[in-house]
Amino acid sequence: MPPENGEILSCVCPLCRGAHFSHLTPYLDHLTQYDRMECHPESQLALCEGCGAVLRLPLVILPPEQAQRHGEAYYAGCPGVESAPLDEVLTSHVLDWQVPHYRQFHRLLSEQTTPREHPRWLDVGSAGPPTAFDDFHFTTLEPSPDAVRFGRRHFNPERIHGGVIEHYQADQPFDGVLFLGSLYCIPTPDEALASAARLLRPGGWLVIGIGGFFVETVPNTPDGEYAHLENVWMGSTMWVYYNRVNLPELCARHGFTLLRELVDPCPAHPHQTFRFWIFAKNAPPREPDFSGGAALTRGLLDGLLGEFRQRTAAALAELDRPDVALVGQRELLAEMGEIRPWSRIRHVVDGLQPRLDGVWRLDGLDYSSFERLAAGWRSGEVKVIVVAAVAGTEAMVRTLAERLMELGVDPLTLDLRMPTRRSPMGRLFGWMMGRRVAVRALIFRPHGPNTARLLREIAAGTPPGD
Ligand SMILES: [Zn+2]
Repeated sequence: MPPENGEILSCVCPLCRGAHFSHLTPYLDHLTQYDRMECHPESQLALCEGCGAVLRLPLVILPPEQAQRHGEAYYAGCPGVESAPLDEVLTSHVLDWQVPHYRQFHRLLSEQTTPREHPRWLDVGSAGPPTAFDDFHFTTLEPSPDAVRFGRRHFNPERIHGGVIEHYQADQPFDGVLFLGSLYCIPTPDEALASAARLLRPGGWLVIGIGGFFVETVPNTPDGEYAHLENVWMGSTMWVYYNRVNLPELCARHGFTLLRELVDPCPAHPHQTFRFWIFAKNAPPREPDFSGGAALTRGLLDGLLGEFRQRTAAALAELDRPDVALVGQRELLAEMGEIRPWSRIRHVVDGLQPRLDGVWRLDGLDYSSFERLAAGWRSGEVKVIVVAAVAGTEAMVRTLAERLMELGVDPLTLDLRMPTRRSPMGRLFGWMMGRRVAVRALIFRPHGPNTARLLREIAAGTPPGD
């Protein structure tokens, strides 16, 4: 994006101040799940070799008078915002996400201290749910003017302020500063933590809460599977991803000592965890030691990649049966064949070339035709068809069903297996790890109601888009 109105574009790590990175990808080529990413075509994902932070580069650093743009961008990046009015987005994000998270924080805080020991708190980056607590006294700072207006209608209006911590002045020191799910949205964390230190009394607490899957790449789906880490690299305000080495070291630079870490189920997504770091401002500032940070991030990503490979290989092994046929995109079929060479499947069909006839060999795979597949289906030799497509699955199902219908197969009898994990992580991190790994986390499940509806439409002769 071009610099405008005094903003600074930076490729210096905001943690270790180094400038050596591993390029992860020009990620828009791969992470297409969220249209909003298209707002930032020049963004790059990079791993800092000095400390292991994963950054979206270049960092966009705004002058003070434009800080509200970070807040506006955040709410503009919330899921569903393209179709919903902002007030609905705020209602859902603030009341359904923020409020339960702050209730959890209140419970945990009450187990760790009392309103007598730590009475006054500054909350950085919410619409103000903690200002409604009647024991701990919270003031909220939030860059989005819309979120501030919304929060003032729902919580304690006098204590919800527009702004960012870097420019905030208070007339007396706080006993605690909280960043709950907000530190990774700040492209200048060093300045933010310096301000936290400036605003806290000696011995005051700094609490940073971050979802476990952001920092540990832990399983983040209800079924306990590793899911798409790339899902967290979304929106226009997610700038810095920390790990358990580099975050405490960054805090040490500002005189914070880690007292303890608390891990609790994530209130909005109970299958996930949320991690709280509690620091005290009780030490002289020191130079951070980031050694081990980059290795930790690489290890986490490697583990994630390994999990995807294992899952995919297991899913493919299950499918390698004589009564299974594969129909899909040649590129993906070839990738799947590399992960686990097929030995028992008899029909592999290039779904993008539905009129090709005969049998031929490409990329080590024997391709068959829709004619032979239709004959196999009619005879009962083929009982399950796997749709091997990671994008455009609906178009693939339509081609498959229409072609088979022409060849005398009733679409309503089809038993399809559809991919349920569509991760481009393998490619992403295959590059990063210095080797090409063709892997996607693929699991195939029986087709669901949407595909059943599509098959009914095709059987009834309804053209696409009707
Ligand atoms: Zn760094």
